[in-house]
Amino acid sequence: MSWTLAPALVTLRRQVDAAFPARSKASDGTIGDTAHSARRSDHNPDGHGVVRAVDITHDPDGGVDCRLLAGQLAASGDERIKYVIWDRRIRRVDRGEGWRGYHGANGHTHHLHLSVTGSNDGRPWNLPMLVGTPPLYVPPAPAIPAPTPSEEEDTMTWLISDGLQVWLTNGIERRAVTLPTDDLGTIADKLRQVVFLGWARNAVKADGVPEVATNAQILASIPVR
Ligand SMILES: [Zn+2]
Repeated sequence: MSWTLAPALVTLRRQVDAAFPARSKASDGTIGDTAHSARRSDHNPDGHGVVRAVDITHDPDGGVDCRLLAGQLAASGDERIKYVIWDRRIRRVDRGEGWRGYHGANGHTHHLHLSVTGSNDGRPWNLPMLVGTPPLYVPPAPAIPAPTPSEEEDTMTWLISDGLQVWLTNGIERRAVTLPTDDLGTIADKLRQVVFLGWARNAVKADGVPEVATNAQILASIPVR
């Protein structure tokens, strides 16, 4: 049977993956196994073929501390949450309950379980560990010349010349920013934070900087908004 993951959970996983690209997924899960299908579980597709639960691996070294994630989910006030299970505790957020003991066979010490409601709302999750604080703002660097206009211009973000100066566009206006010459991860992280500010789209076009990062590498590091 074909199935899809609830939009809210697609977005959450995308955000978690973008924020912590090196995280372990050893205990991640979406659709249930045969043991799940024998009982009621949000890991089984609902009547619309939608799976409404994910498991996210506890990997503090990789940046995903599920104790923190559980707390931030519970504190988020996000009405899409049905319940959260982590470390032998469950919180029925949809019923406004606090944490209580969870006595299922799986104590959920290796992953956090999140069930969501029937909503099709896939907007980004507003969790501090995912959004990052404070967002980076790089002031304009007006000295660099504008890129040669092209039909792609309105939807492209441009990396110019030595790879340090970047044109960002939101499709309406564009501005030049300067990024420090760090490694790829740092540059990608700063671009991502700019993206989180809602400034730039997720497209990048590089000009003469393949030694810093390929378009594909940068694109892969920036979450889709
Ligand atoms: Zn689960």
